[in-house]
Amino acid sequence: MYHSVGDCSDDPYRVTVTPERLDRQLRWLRRRGLRGVSVAELLAARARGEGRGLVGLTFDDGYTDFLDNALPVLTRWKCTATLFVLPGRLGGDNAWDPLGPRKPLLTADGVRRAAGAGMEIGSHGLTHVDLTRADDTLLKAETVESRALLEELTGVPAAGFCYPYGTVDRRVMDAVRDAGYSYACAIDPGELSGPHVLPRLHVGQHDGAVRLLLKYRLHRLRRRPVAGLR
Ligand SMILES: [Zn+2]
Repeated sequence: MYHSVGDCSDDPYRVTVTPERLDRQLRWLRRRGLRGVSVAELLAARARGEGRGLVGLTFDDGYTDFLDNALPVLTRWKCTATLFVLPGRLGGDNAWDPLGPRKPLLTADGVRRAAGAGMEIGSHGLTHVDLTRADDTLLKAETVESRALLEELTGVPAAGFCYPYGTVDRRVMDAVRDAGYSYACAIDPGELSGPHVLPRLHVGQHDGAVRLLLKYRLHRLRRRPVAGLR
């Protein structure tokens, strides 16, 4: 789970890695015989029994630095990724993170460029709200409307959803599934673990080879209950 790729000198939410760090992390993956792919690609491969050696890469929020800083590195290492964007904030910024530096978000054209470069585009909701605190009307808008807007934008229905802040309960999970998403990413899945609540691990600026190896092994243990589910 990545967010922003750029200068991380002022980064109170620890959401940023430098392009150089991302480059070293993807090189680390490739040298271990692993390859980063979008979540849709990972799940499709796993359903065919061919998921070995693939690692899902996700970038939340849809920052403009994805195109400038992440995409060239992903391309260099022949990786793809899923970009979870907020169709209610295109061309805006991360106003939901009050303490950190303002980071601009991709415009509609920027999202299309990422899709055109082979990246999967998923929904992060409309505006980055904690869905467990949203009423039914807002929950429906954040899930159904964001999917419709993304389809308008990219021409294909979004398969994936990503819970803002990683917060999810059964009602929210049901709304996401009912909106037509075939999978959804969380952080710590707990008892809801399954295709609509997939676990992810935060990867940050301090994750060098040793920490990456520990996180890789931890994740393989953590995702075990999901294995075999489509
Ligand atoms: Zn987010």
